[in-house]
Amino acid sequence: MTITPIPAFNDNYIWLMQANEQAVCVDPGEAAPVLAYLQQHRLSLHSILITHHHRDHIGGVADLQEAFPDAIIYGPEDIACVTQAMQEGDVLDVLGEPVVVWEVPGHTHNHIAYLLTIHGTAAPHVFCGDTLFSAGCGRVFCGTIEQLQHSLARFQSLPDATLFYPAHEYTASNLRFALSVEPDNQAAIAALAVATDTPTLPVTLAHEKAINPFLRLDSEQIQQQVALQGMSMINDAAVFASLRQLKNQF
Ligand SMILES: [Zn+2]
Repeated sequence: MTITPIPAFNDNYIWLMQANEQAVCVDPGEAAPVLAYLQQHRLSLHSILITHHHRDHIGGVADLQEAFPDAIIYGPEDIACVTQAMQEGDVLDVLGEPVVVWEVPGHTHNHIAYLLTIHGTAAPHVFCGDTLFSAGCGRVFCGTIEQLQHSLARFQSLPDATLFYPAHEYTASNLRFALSVEPDNQAAIAALAVATDTPTLPVTLAHEKAINPFLRLDSEQIQQQVALQGMSMINDAAVFASLRQLKNQF
C-alpha cells in the first residue's frame, strides 16, 4: 500500500491510500483533484473515510459518489453523506489492511480518527483530521477543550513511531507559536528552518513530542509562560486550555 497527499484548497491534504488499482481517500473537501489523480493513475475509488463534518473535509463527497456510485462513505453517524456510520472501536478493512476507529472529540463533538496498521509494521498510521496538526492542534468548534485534551493524550499514548496524517499543513505558523511559548526548544527551531518551504507531513509521534506544545504540558518553559497569563493553578488541563487560548490570539 502507498499513501499519497493530494493537495486541495490552500492548505488541505486529502490523503489517498492505494493498492491493486483501488484507492481510498480521507476527507475529500473537493472532488476535482482526487478525480484527476484517480484518472491519471487508473484507480477506482473503493471508499471514503470522513473524520468530521466540516465543509473542507466533505465538500467533494457528492461528486466522488457520482463518479463511483459503489464507494462506501465511512464516518461519524450524524453526517448526512455517510453510508456506513463508525463508532469507537469499529474495525474496517481498507484495501486488505485493518483500520480501527477512535472517537477523538474536541475540534468537533463527533470527530473520529482512523488508525491503519499495515501488515508487518509495528506502529499505526493515524488519519487524525483536524485533531492534531504538526506542532499544534485543532481549534475547539463544537466540542470542548477537555475533550480535545483527552483526545491528544490518547494519541500521545501510541508508540513513538506512529505516523500522523493531519488534514492541513499549518506547520510553519504552528512552530512560530510553539517558539513563542517555548523559545529555547531546539527541536522546534530546527523544525521551523525546514518547515518554511517543505511539506512536513506525515509526522511521527516522537517528533511531535519534541516540538508540539500541546503534547509538552510538563515543559517548565511552557508552564512559566502560562503562569505569566495569571493562572493560579498549574495542572495539565489548565496548561492545555491556556495554550489553546493563547494560540487563538496568536
Ligand atoms: Zn475542521
